[in-house]
Amino acid sequence: MRAVVLAEPGRVEVRDDLPEPTPGPDDVVVLVRAVGLCGSDLSVVAGHRAVPEFPWVLGHEALGEVVAIGADVVDRAIGQRVVIEPNYPCGRCEPCRNGTTAGCVRRRIVGITEPGVLAERITVPAAFAWPVPDRTGPAGGIRDDDALCAEPLAVALTAVDRLGIAPGTRCLVIGAGAQGQLVSLALRARGAVPVVTDVNTERANLAVELGAEPFLRNDERFAAVVEASGAPSALPEAISRTAHDGSIALIGQSEQTSPIRTFDLVQKRLTIHGCLIYDHPGGFAATLDLLRTHDVRPGRILRHRFSFDDAATAFRTAGAAAGKSWISLGGNES
Ligand SMILES: [Zn+2]
Ligand SMILES: [Zn+2]
Repeated sequence: MRAVVLAEPGRVEVRDDLPEPTPGPDDVVVLVRAVGLCGSDLSVVAGHRAVPEFPWVLGHEALGEVVAIGADVVDRAIGQRVVIEPNYPCGRCEPCRNGTTAGCVRRRIVGITEPGVLAERITVPAAFAWPVPDRTGPAGGIRDDDALCAEPLAVALTAVDRLGIAPGTRCLVIGAGAQGQLVSLALRARGAVPVVTDVNTERANLAVELGAEPFLRNDERFAAVVEASGAPSALPEAISRTAHDGSIALIGQSEQTSPIRTFDLVQKRLTIHGCLIYDHPGGFAATLDLLRTHDVRPGRILRHRFSFDDAATAFRTAGAAAGKSWISLGGNES
């Protein structure tokens, strides 16, 4: 079976000698149709996030079709279109029992602790292969390109919902990479007014094209700010641009220290939320519900399509591109 692997840090290859997946009793096998690339995949490729072994199958954002079902699976069907939730909590630890599965102490992460989704076929626990309603169905369907963005949109929506923003509120989004674009779309879907800033004007322009307002007034202060760039300088910027009693959601992650003053946090009475992914199953349920009922259209951020054979180029160029890069494994998605 063919798969895109990291042969060693920095070297992405297509291999054709991987074993065919067989489902355990609670698993399904998914024929992968499309895979979105995101920042954490690039960290793995660069060697900044350790993986258990080489070669290592890459990727964690997948759309596909169920082609085999484990013996105990009763609520999935062959031929069903599914999107993968790529974080598997243990279900038994304290955070899991409290419903905050993002904090699971034994969380398995597809593409980092579990083999990734950039393979022709993958095994997934059935509960993490979410059926995507058909566009011809009665409940309001979801397009392939929008479904492919469900996972990063779940991250964005979870962060936005933690801020508890009143409709009409102007919110600043720092960083207009794929995650910042999705935060902007999630803010709009929740009735807020996203204002997006990025040092890269092409990315900032894309956000405006997709409905955000440009960041124009350096003296404007915002009730809510989402930091989606991961740049170490972004936290002081977020703090200075947040209004008194405002809230900051952090999605971007930097391992470098950041110069901030507690004086500013205390004087302005700010609240900072660290936003790590989403909880199972609420995060994906809310996201698929939003995609079904609102015209969010996150698939509009998919700007760079690559074939399976061009995966190495996709990974090399994704970091600098405006809009999201993705890999097509055939079929007629988009
Ligand atoms: Zn992702
Ligand atoms: Zn757990």
